[in-house]
Amino acid sequence: MQHVGFGFDIHRLVPGRRLVLCGCTFDSPVGLLGHSDADAPLHALMDALLGAAALGDIGHLFPDTDPAWEGADSMDLLREVARRVAAAGWRVANVDVTILAEAPKIAPRSAEMRARMAEGLGLPADCVSLKATTMEKLGPIGAREAIAAQAVALLEKD
Ligand code: MG
Repeated sequence: MQHVGFGFDIHRLVPGRRLVLCGCTFDSPVGLLGHSDADAPLHALMDALLGAAALGDIGHLFPDTDPAWEGADSMDLLREVARRVAAAGWRVANVDVTILAEAPKIAPRSAEMRARMAEGLGLPADCVSLKATTMEKLGPIGAREAIAAQAVALLEKD
């Protein structure tokens, strides 16, 4: 049996926050605003995994009203999502993440970011894809006011 899931997330860029994407910190004058570290691509990835397993979403699992998740490292949340997906009997076949951002340049850090996600999911790196695109300066992402991410995940079960 195979199930596919989709995830989307967007966070606002503000001064004075650390920019964390796929568990990697970028040298940037602005970072993503959120209750946790606001790692939008990891949030999209978690929602794709939870969606495929029909286990709800991260807003339900890790509510932003709960002080337990304040400043949370999204890599820890990803490991918890992976644990829950596995506990429901699913294996992750592959995941594919796209970051929508004008900056920073993702390509120089892509291998490191894929390795972080693969480690969090206990998968080989060739089962974890990462892509990035700009918004051609259109809209809030194009104006560098936000970074968004989309993800799909395929789960398998005997
Ligand atoms: Mg989020």
